[in-house]
Amino acid sequence: MRRRTFVKYSAAGLTGLGALLAELSARGQGSQEPLTPDNFSVPEWLEYARAVYFDGYSPPVYPHIDEFDAGRLLQTVVDLGGNLLRYQPIGYFAYYPSKVFPVFEELGSRNLLAEVARECRRVGVRSYCYTGYGAAIMLTPEYVQRNPKYSEWLLRDPNGKPYGKYGHNGWMTPLARLCVTGDAYRLAIREVVRELCQHDIDGVYFDAPSPFGYSGICFCENCRTNFKKFSGMDLARLADLGKGAGLPFEWDQLPEHVDMQALIAWYAWANDLTKQDMLAFRKILHDSGKIMLCHDGAWVGTSLPLEYRIPDGFMVESSREVYDRLMTGMMGGSMTRQHKKIAQMYMGSYDVAWFGEPPHERPDVVHNANLEDGDEILMEGFAALACGNTPLYATANRLYFHVGSGSAEPAREVFALMRQVENIHKRSAGAPYVTIMPTWSSQQLWRTKGKSWNWPMMSQGMGLAMLDGRVSFDIYPSTEMTEEWLKSQTVIALCGASGITKSEAEMLTRWVENGGGLFATYDTGLYNERGEMWEDGGPLRNLLGVALKGEPLRSEPESFYRIRESHPALGSYGPGSIVEGDTRVLPIEVLKGARVLAEAWNLGTKEVRGPAIVANNRGKGRTIFVNGSLEAHYLYDRVKSTGRLLKTMVEYLAGGAPQPYRLTAPMGVYGLLRSAPQGDPVLWVLANTGFKDAAAGRMRQQYIPVSNIEVAVGIPDGRQVKEVRLIRANKRIPFKEDGGYAVAMIPAVHIAEVVHVALA
Ligand SMILES: [Zn+2]
Repeated sequence: MRRRTFVKYSAAGLTGLGALLAELSARGQGSQEPLTPDNFSVPEWLEYARAVYFDGYSPPVYPHIDEFDAGRLLQTVVDLGGNLLRYQPIGYFAYYPSKVFPVFEELGSRNLLAEVARECRRVGVRSYCYTGYGAAIMLTPEYVQRNPKYSEWLLRDPNGKPYGKYGHNGWMTPLARLCVTGDAYRLAIREVVRELCQHDIDGVYFDAPSPFGYSGICFCENCRTNFKKFSGMDLARLADLGKGAGLPFEWDQLPEHVDMQALIAWYAWANDLTKQDMLAFRKILHDSGKIMLCHDGAWVGTSLPLEYRIPDGFMVESSREVYDRLMTGMMGGSMTRQHKKIAQMYMGSYDVAWFGEPPHERPDVVHNANLEDGDEILMEGFAALACGNTPLYATANRLYFHVGSGSAEPAREVFALMRQVENIHKRSAGAPYVTIMPTWSSQQLWRTKGKSWNWPMMSQGMGLAMLDGRVSFDIYPSTEMTEEWLKSQTVIALCGASGITKSEAEMLTRWVENGGGLFATYDTGLYNERGEMWEDGGPLRNLLGVALKGEPLRSEPESFYRIRESHPALGSYGPGSIVEGDTRVLPIEVLKGARVLAEAWNLGTKEVRGPAIVANNRGKGRTIFVNGSLEAHYLYDRVKSTGRLLKTMVEYLAGGAPQPYRLTAPMGVYGLLRSAPQGDPVLWVLANTGFKDAAAGRMRQQYIPVSNIEVAVGIPDGRQVKEVRLIRANKRIPFKEDGGYAVAMIPAVHIAEVVHVALA
């Protein structure tokens, strides 16, 4: 059937590859059509649950289960103040009598799933099961010999031999990668979900749909046949990728001669299967009244588009640095909030070194033994909350064994604060002055083996500059953009958002014409949703007043920006001023009516490389285009004047609107403004100041208290302030009203404080 569709397209005389890709895109990979929600209503308790993770890849579950005691586990959860447990009835093996998943040979007549479910019920804690979906497991050759039915689960190379071991920095035994695209495994996992649902649980979590970095391309008979049916292609075209560790996690690490046409088709096929599987899992779960969660939002170009909309929430992979944790958390919050779903984020780590290790320790390193909880846990928990996620304590295994000091106080404190702020924090939303928008199309550059810096670099760099500049911001993905949502936005920043669709450009144009302010940098709008370069200067050309002419030119380290005229977007810089610039520029043509505010200038050769900053007006709105990425540089050098310039450009685009909050404190003290459901402004202050030699891993960071932080929070029009309250310090502080702000002094902040401006 599908094959015939393909043949029909070709016969219609469309160009072969283009037509095929359009067809495949429409079916899965490139599809932007919303995944239809079902009628399930997400239970209210999930929205604000205090979750604890108990790992099943390590003791007391593996390598032996004799010490496993569900009562002791649940006591740990209760002691922490948690009310939701994530645990693993399947890990390397099944720890319940599964009929389909390899059962742990020590299990005997036990059923850990039932044991935990019973204890959860007894102490009033909800639970959901971690389940690998494509995760490598312990199918050793000996095990498969004893249990031959699992032979079909193994990832096969082009010669039909099992291939691909998986091991994470040596912290676990090398595992067998699985044939995730084959019928045998896919049907078995559906059955696992049914088996889990027969127990007294609240839901299932899937690790990790989509990226296929844990599995790979499988060349078994079943996969070859099904891929051919889907694409009309022979899977052997991808034989290059059927060895070693399989597919890379990063598409810019693809082998040089990979057959991209076949690879694009493979991802389309694999994602189509993922979509079918996830929808099937969801149906089984929702029909049983249970929730579905999964790992990450899969904001990776090769993943299933809009995957994050299928489950009831997902866990945002956390980052080491606080600013980065905030960016990913904000992104997760924005992907889930309007769908009334949740984003969770780890507080603590399942790996002591995450992922560094003592230099002499290879191949073994302590897994799952976060020995002493301290300041780090507080910062991680508060940061997760500040960006609208819920913390997930990882892991309870250490507490279960009372390893080290057994400290649980930091996690307990985070959960306690969570309860304290519930009425102003649950269902609160960011209050952005500028919204940074990563675009899904930018992620599609992999299709041409290109690399977009949109997420890893520029969204982070811009976010960091806004944090440092005390500009309230949010991160919001293009896939959630609607006309209605745009009406609530003041400034939108597209930072190296290389891929823009025509319809996105049209929506943004209408919004600017009605008074919006658009900031765009570097290669924003250079490519379409298939990673191909727009040929007509890009769909933003008339909006920005700039036609893009091609790929960025090579870097010239002596390049700076030289200001050509005084302009409010440039703050105090006047003609002739030289500021840090991007050493890469795009060839562009500035269109009539747009103004060149600065040019790229090589200090060494004295050559003008082209316009660098271009301002344009459109209807009631304004735009600024920077022909490079100042924010990318800011991420690495934190040059003060660069941060200031980014801030003044954003303020100009906002028509000089006052900032919603001000903060007088040393660098590293971050403000995150949220609006409580009842409209009260709530400023989360994170004092990321202290021991920062963290590059080697989890380094037990300690934070130094900062004293006398002056905060000024904008008072909503026509409202009165009743009181200003510090939630963590649990006290009212004096404030004065000054120019539309409630101004108050916080005597001291250690790690975090929540400033609640209670309106009358
Ligand atoms: Zn296979």
